Amino acid sequence: MDYEAAFRRAVAVLKEERRYRVFTDLARQAGRFPYAINHSDPAKPEVVVWCSNDYLGMGQHKVVLEAMAEAVQRYGAGAGGTRNIAGTHHPMVELEAELADLHAKAAALVFSSGYVANDTTLAILGRLLPGAVIYSDQLNHASMIAGIRRSGAECRIFRHNDLEHLQQLLRAESPDRAKIIAFESVYSMDGDIAPIAAIADLAERTGAMTYLDEVHAVGMYGKRGGGVAERDGVMDRVTVIQGTLGKAFGVVGGYIAGSGLLVDAVRGHAPGFIFTTALPPAIAAAALASIRYLKDHDELRRQQQERVQRLKARLTAVGVRFMANDSHIVPVLVGDSGLCTRAGQLLLEEHAIYVQPINYPTVPRGSERLRLTPSPLHDDAMIDHLAEALARVWQRLSLGKAA
Ligand code: PLP
Repeated sequence: MDYEAAFRRAVAVLKEERRYRVFTDLARQAGRFPYAINHSDPAKPEVVVWCSNDYLGMGQHKVVLEAMAEAVQRYGAGAGGTRNIAGTHHPMVELEAELADLHAKAAALVFSSGYVANDTTLAILGRLLPGAVIYSDQLNHASMIAGIRRSGAECRIFRHNDLEHLQQLLRAESPDRAKIIAFESVYSMDGDIAPIAAIADLAERTGAMTYLDEVHAVGMYGKRGGGVAERDGVMDRVTVIQGTLGKAFGVVGGYIAGSGLLVDAVRGHAPGFIFTTALPPAIAAAALASIRYLKDHDELRRQQQERVQRLKARLTAVGVRFMANDSHIVPVLVGDSGLCTRAGQLLLEEHAIYVQPINYPTVPRGSERLRLTPSPLHDDAMIDHLAEALARVWQRLSLGKAA
């Protein structure tokens, strides 16, 4: 077997389909969000980042950095192993209690990442509930799809946010059969939001449990940052809330929150939790500080929404079309992978703006886009500069104008 030849072919496919990714060598600057230094271009090093999922700049926030530095000094670097073998460190205990409180659930469980939380939990839920059917929104994230596949449960895919289709599929099944409805609150690529209350209604009527991914909502919606379910007053009607510590909370890690028994069952059965080293104490301490800070600082959420509205108004003014939604995500459609990559390059090289092109398989072919994520720290001048730069790039590449 010529192994290298197989890898060469695999890379060639990516290049042919124009979805080969080149990573820009960036250095984020502690305390200077959203600026970063671009090591790929020493001539014009400083760029403004417009595509970060550190949505509120908490990854650079003094409170978070201090908590992390202090925890390193106090507890050292690593966790020392898996929780079953090396024990559970105190910041993790505090973090899980804080997360349970954030979502008004009895318990929470932290995983290495949001991906692992979804993959591991859905895989084990399907196994713990014999004969279960999992109803999965058509646009669910790859991590949920991976978990559902590994669960061995039957899977029914419902059309994106389509309550009628979901109802039809649920009603077709025996009331006695275990059912899990798996969906997201804010869909990361289109930025649209699920009708959580209506899905909870359907679940209650058909005896299903609900599994909600709030990865793109925690920290940013609800009075304390508990997500869209908190904002809509329905946290108690969702069986499992899953989230990340790596986006609006600015650190890394993932979690689920739910009943004591559910969390206990997952904790004791899920290989993706059991057989891996726990997150370090400093990560847990930093995430804890971030969650606590955001619980008390609703003004950051309001500022973020205000920045989003300002960016949308500027884009409209310069004629750059974006996909309408009610979230903090501003997707600007390009519709071609080559042009999308080129637009990202021009923004970086000529305007010192960093926006990663989003191509297949992250989004379907023909819907390639730039995904803009305004934060409270993107000021008026940055927004104006971005809108003008996009208008120039759009003209240069002959991309569509807003109607
Ligand atoms: N769920 C959704 C909807 C996501 O977009 C992501 C992506 O990053 C994840 C889960 C995974 O979370 P994490 O980045 O913490 O692994």
